[in-house]
Amino acid sequence: MRLPRLSRILATLAATTLAALGAVAVDSAPASAAVRNVCYNTSQAGPFATYANQAAAIWNNYTNNINMAQCGSNLMIYYTYGGGSYAQVSSLGNGRVVIDYYQAQQYSPLRIMTHEIGHILGLPDNYNGNCAILMSGGSAGTSCTNPYPSSTEAAQVDRNFGFAARSAATPRVFTGSWPAPATVGAQR
Ligand SMILES: [Zn+2]
Repeated sequence: MRLPRLSRILATLAATTLAALGAVAVDSAPASAAVRNVCYNTSQAGPFATYANQAAAIWNNYTNNINMAQCGSNLMIYYTYGGGSYAQVSSLGNGRVVIDYYQAQQYSPLRIMTHEIGHILGLPDNYNGNCAILMSGGSAGTSCTNPYPSSTEAAQVDRNFGFAARSAATPRVFTGSWPAPATVGAQR
């Protein structure tokens, strides 16, 4: 149950005051009750670890109900050479993201990373060619470097991780979001 905004502000003020007085801060703010950690692991991400961190910061900034941090291995970040970037969702907030090194030389690596993590957060593809839409992926072309979710996409993630719906992401593999670079001979 959500408290009215003023009550939450007062609760935050109270917690801040208690902390200032040296009291033990208890995380009892209602607004944080729905926040769910999405723990990602960049140990296998190679040169894309930095992009994973940037993408996590973006998702944290644009959403209220998730907190991405390097606190575990719910989400493993890998990279590979050829075959296309993809996200393998095992359940909402869990799975793996694989970044195609070659693809990331054509398309914005940060946009690819944020997009693929979007799948882990329960978003489907939306190949409408609109660069303002993160889940339009490669349909927006190589010139599109926008790594930010639209307000609609961010709100959908918050709903996915809200109290009501926890099953938005069913086991699935998302492939083909980014057309294969022309320079790569192998097709898939
Ligand atoms: Zn996709």
